[in-house]
Amino acid sequence: MNQAVDYQTSCHHDLLLRLTQVRDLGVLNQTFVSIVGTIFPDREFRLYDYNRQQRCWQPALGLHEWSDDYDVLDLLLKREPLIVPAAQADGYRNLYPVVSEHELLAGLVIVGAPEPIERRMLRVLLDLYANQYFILSRSKRDGLTDLLNRQALNERLQSIYREKDIQARRADEPQTPGWQVALLDIDHFKHINDGYGHLCGDEVLVRFAGIMHESFRDNDHLFRYGGEEFVVLIKNVDDDTAQLVLDRFRERIAATSFPRVGNISVSIGHTRFNAALPPNVNIGRADEALYAAKGSGRNQVFCYSGDDHVFSGDAIGLPAGPFTREQARPVPV
Ligand code: GH3
Ligand code: MG
Ligand code: MG
Repeated sequence: MNQAVDYQTSCHHDLLLRLTQVRDLGVLNQTFVSIVGTIFPDREFRLYDYNRQQRCWQPALGLHEWSDDYDVLDLLLKREPLIVPAAQADGYRNLYPVVSEHELLAGLVIVGAPEPIERRMLRVLLDLYANQYFILSRSKRDGLTDLLNRQALNERLQSIYREKDIQARRADEPQTPGWQVALLDIDHFKHINDGYGHLCGDEVLVRFAGIMHESFRDNDHLFRYGGEEFVVLIKNVDDDTAQLVLDRFRERIAATSFPRVGNISVSIGHTRFNAALPPNVNIGRADEALYAAKGSGRNQVFCYSGDDHVFSGDAIGLPAGPFTREQARPVPV
């Protein structure tokens, strides 16, 4: 009997170790779910992600959901595990919050009443999961602006290729417009640093990133590409819609008064992400459109449209596009 318990314990240790070895956030969720399933083979359980911006719950990984859970999941906002009655007269649901650095990440619902040893195991598992989540999400973020960093951008782009592969295999699925990639560059940022100091420049970057968060949707992805350059991946929009969304953001930046510095502007280039081309070619295209926006007077949004190096955009005070690349040259400062 003791041998059986020892064997089971060492299997559990191996499983827990597996959780700490995961290096990718997407894989972490999957691993967590598969471990819970292995440790509690007879228990029904459901995992929900908590969306902090929209304050709502979604089934993690598209897993099974149960509508009654939505009535009680908000109780986890207190960040305490609890037991609530299930719809069946004799049943219970155990609710466990997944909390990392005071942030609620997810909620685990286990049907039935776990034994004390199961509950202890679960606590260890949840703590490890939350720690690993924190470590992985930190390593993907830029320290100054808290936006996703360049490494996260590379990983995100790789997963767009994987999504496209899957979509291509399901030929009957309706084709979506896919992703737009936009490159944003603050205009004359050097002047801000030179005129007001580097720390003040940093504050502008932080505020700029905050406005990005407020302006784009949750399923768009926001990155600091480096220095005063940012990338936005916008999901399922065509060139024209992306142009509108980005131009609205450009206008918002131009209308914002930044502490001490006053008004600034941003130039933006964007293109449809073509999954038949390598990532650097797609980013390069957005960069060419950005270069054209800078060359046409800055504070503008340009779209790279096609392979013929023709750009279109709403040039302020300039005749409407398209502009050829040869026409687009940086304005001397
Ligand atoms: P343009 O309109 O052509 O984009 O001009 P610019 O002055 O914005 O472009 P440039 O690339 O010449 O200057 C970017 C500056 O951004 C230079 C660099 O010192 C500054 N920078 C890069 N990273 C940081 C940072 O983290 N904080 C601050 N304060 N400045 C930074
Ligand atoms: Mg720059
Ligand atoms: Mg700049």
